[in-house]
Amino acid sequence: MAELKKAICHRYRTDYGVEYGENEVIVTAGGKQALFNTALALFGPGDEVITHAPYWPTLTEQVQLAEARPVLVRTWPDDRFAIRSTPIVEAITARTRGIIINSPCNPTGALIAEDELTVVAREAARLGIWLVVDLCYEKLIYESIPHNVPAVLAKHCRELAVICGSASKAYAMTGWRCGWTLAPPAVVAAEQAIQSHATSNVSSITQKAAIEALTGSQEPVAAMLSEYRSRRDQLCQWLSAEPRLRVRKPAGAFYLFVDVSEVLSVDALRTSTDFAQALLDESRVAVTPGEAFDAPGFVRISYATSLANLREGCRRLLEFVATHAPQTADARVG
Ligand code: PLP
Repeated sequence: MAELKKAICHRYRTDYGVEYGENEVIVTAGGKQALFNTALALFGPGDEVITHAPYWPTLTEQVQLAEARPVLVRTWPDDRFAIRSTPIVEAITARTRGIIINSPCNPTGALIAEDELTVVAREAARLGIWLVVDLCYEKLIYESIPHNVPAVLAKHCRELAVICGSASKAYAMTGWRCGWTLAPPAVVAAEQAIQSHATSNVSSITQKAAIEALTGSQEPVAAMLSEYRSRRDQLCQWLSAEPRLRVRKPAGAFYLFVDVSEVLSVDALRTSTDFAQALLDESRVAVTPGEAFDAPGFVRISYATSLANLREGCRRLLEFVATHAPQTADARVG
């Protein structure tokens, strides 16, 4: 619907000060289809596509479905998993066709700072490399640090920039399936051609709902952000009762990425996958093992649920750790 495309352009103009026309936007079935269309439109056999790890696995799987090769650069827990320009730029080769940045990042909640993004964007412009940003969590940032990704891209590499967004997280509309891509007209035209043979359009009911979400009061988004912030803080505080679980407060998204490696052992829970499976089987608490994100030794806890559920889940998790990995007297003294 033209009205929905206008609503998306209006949102980005209002929130980020960037101008996009209707021929530069396509509405998709969630951010996932926005990213998939993009991978199929831009990447192919022999291409390398750089992204940062730990990563949301769909990003690399989609690159491979396009028959391109994902190239990973690590981000580090001691650096709060911040997405840095230097390793990304250093990973560029003659085969690099694209760079994908997910900020805030699932699973780490980390961001790319504007100055780091500027370096990557300038390099992309200089070398003619596509810069794809997955901004599905863009409305869930807890710290007031500058993070105007669309404006940085508009300034430095507009002709090579592809923005993928979604109504799923900001408006709690995951099941409605509405996302979008903002990109140069030729990219949007290619994505339209791909989508027309895959799924056609997003359901008209969803499109109407998304128009309401994007043009209506944004007050609920701010209210949910503050709710997520207090859940994050509360959860971190509860988990701090077990010092062997290393928790860092994420800057964005709605996940805690917890280092559980200290409670793993050779004879009981060997891996974070074992940890997550046993926690599910025995305590009925679901967390995602770090292996899913190329980060063994970690588990991801989602706080997109009520504080009461989180309190109970946390109680069971702490009890589970105490049962499976009792602290030795030596460890307690140490
Ligand atoms: N990007 C990231 C990093 C995600 O975690 C998700 C969903 O979990 C998406 C994109 C896509 O979400 P959706 O397809 O519901 O818009």
